[in-house]
Amino acid sequence: MIAAGFEYAAPDSLDEAIRLLGEGGEDAKLLAGGHSLIPLMKVRLAAPTLLVDLRRVPGLRGVSSEDSELRIGAMTAHAELADAKAGLLATAAGQIADQQVRNRGTIGGSLAHADPASDLPAVVLAAEGRVALKGAGGEREVAAADLFEDYLTTAVRADEVITEVRVPKLPGYGFGYEKFARRSEDWAMVGVCALVKATDGTCEDVRVGLTHMGSTPLRAGAVEEALRGRPLDAGRIGEAAEQAAEGTSPPGDLNATPDYKRHLARVLCRRALAEAAGVS
Ligand SMILES: Cc1cc2nc3c(=O)[nH]c(=O)nc-3n(C[C@H](O)[C@H](O)[C@H](O)COP(=O)(O)OP(=O)(O)OC[C@H]3O[C@@H](n4cnc5c(N)ncnc54)[C@H](O)[C@@H]3O)c2cc1C
Repeated sequence: MIAAGFEYAAPDSLDEAIRLLGEGGEDAKLLAGGHSLIPLMKVRLAAPTLLVDLRRVPGLRGVSSEDSELRIGAMTAHAELADAKAGLLATAAGQIADQQVRNRGTIGGSLAHADPASDLPAVVLAAEGRVALKGAGGEREVAAADLFEDYLTTAVRADEVITEVRVPKLPGYGFGYEKFARRSEDWAMVGVCALVKATDGTCEDVRVGLTHMGSTPLRAGAVEEALRGRPLDAGRIGEAAEQAAEGTSPPGDLNATPDYKRHLARVLCRRALAEAAGVS
C-alpha cells in the first residue's frame, strides 16, 4: 500500500513546527514515531498534505522528576519510558508491542492518537495526569480526564503540539498492570491498570483505568467507589472487581465479543488490584 503524496518538513524549533502546522491547517499533521500515522496513511485512512516531523525539535525528549510529578517529553519513546523510574507508566510502556515499536513510538503520539486499545492513555487517565500543549494561541494544560473525547479524537487542536506529559508521582501507591492479548506483543484485547494507597490495611485511595473497554480509555468508577475507605482483602477486592465493566461499552472485534471483554475486565481488574494492594 502506498500513501497519497504529501509535503514533508522537519523544523528545528517548536515555534517553527507550530507555524508550519498553522499554515498547513486541518490538512497538516505532526509526525512523531510514525507508528500509528504512517500505517493509516498507507491504507489511505489518513491523507495529510503536509507532515511536520518533530524529531529535530529540541527539548521534547526525556523523563525528569520535578517535585511532586514526573515530566515526560512528548517525543520520549516507549522504550526510554520503560527504562525510566516511572512506576506504572514504565511497566505499561514495557508491554507495548515489540522492541522495534517501543523504540519508535512516543508517549505524545500515543496520547494524541487516542486509540482506546493503546496502553498509555488509560494509565495517564488513572494517574490523573495532564498534557502540556503549545500552539499559535499560546500554552495550556489539559487534564487527561478532559483529553480523550471519542475514538481517535482528543481535545488537542489542529495547530497544537503536545510538548509534555505531567503525571503525579503518587508516593505510597502500589500499582498493577494487566494486559490480555491473544499473542504476546499484540494490542490489548483488554487492559487494566490499578493504583492503590493503603494505610493499616485500609484503602485510602484507588484508581483503576480500563483499556479497550469503550471508544476512549475509561476509569472504573464503580470499582473505585466500592474499595475507597474499606479494608483491603482478597474477598473485598474480588467483589469490587466484579463491577469493572459497569458503564462500559466495549467494542466487539475479531478477537473478542463485548461480553468476553467484560469478563476479561473483571478478571484483570481483580489481578491488577491484588498486585497493587499486595494482597494474594
Ligand atoms: C505493529 C504495531 C503494534 C503496536 N502495538 C501497540 C500496543 O500494543 N500498545 C500501544 O499502546 N500501542 C501500540 N502501537 C502503537 C504505538 O505505540 C504508536 O507508536 C503510538 O500509538 C503512536 O505514537 P507515534 O509516536 O508513533 O505517533 P505517530 O504515528 O507519529 O502520530 C500519531 C498521531 O499523533 C499525532 N501526534 C504525534 N505526536 C504529537 C504531539 N507531540 N502533539 C500532538 N499530536 C501529535 C500525529 O499527528 C498523529 O495524528 C503499535 C504500533 C504498531 C505499528
